[in-house]
Amino acid sequence: MEIVRKDIKNLHLAVYPPNGRVRVAVPLRIDDEAVRLAVISRLGWIRRQQNRLSHQDRQSEREMITGESHYYLGRRYRLDVIEHDAPPIVTLPNNTTMELRVRPGTSRDKRETVLHQWYRRRLREQIPELIAKWEPEIGVTVAEWRIKKMKTRWGTCNVDARRVWLNLELAKKPASCLEYVLVHEMVHFLERHHNERFRELMDRLMPQWRLHREKLNRWPLSHENWKY
Ligand SMILES: [Zn+2]
Repeated sequence: MEIVRKDIKNLHLAVYPPNGRVRVAVPLRIDDEAVRLAVISRLGWIRRQQNRLSHQDRQSEREMITGESHYYLGRRYRLDVIEHDAPPIVTLPNNTTMELRVRPGTSRDKRETVLHQWYRRRLREQIPELIAKWEPEIGVTVAEWRIKKMKTRWGTCNVDARRVWLNLELAKKPASCLEYVLVHEMVHFLERHHNERFRELMDRLMPQWRLHREKLNRWPLSHENWKY
């Protein structure tokens, strides 16, 4: 919550998209205790606004237009769609801009496909190195891995086939999240269930795994029911 003191008559409370940040504009004459009480008395309203926003966020389809927020490696970028007469390309010219160059008249779905292909390539570059790093640590081998679009899972595995599937959405998350999900799936090769032994293995191999999990489930891609 952000509190801003201003030369105004009345206390003003607002909940902002996209993530429900609360901002209170407070008249100079009102003390902290009065601000606290005012906010508490409006908590119900604040929660309702935040719920509405998070609901919208989950449901809204991306339009793939300039100005939208898109994520890569846990960082938020402002999408800049530029029309050019050459094959489509995605670039990050700086820390805040994601440029999507497409041919004039490219449809929304095609623009999304271009971005998804870019995400997929970026993940493909990271995964072999991570597998090579963790195979000797965990003492298992991965026979096959794939990047999939999955609705409710960050990753999944087939223990008998020594196969790991990773969610394309992981490209939007901090790098540690991809590593955590991969290790989680590889540890399933040793223990199928999320039991005490599984947690002990995770604690030994990746002591910070709970932190990574928390990051993974944090906005903007927080789905309460995601499994892996
Ligand atoms: Zn699991």
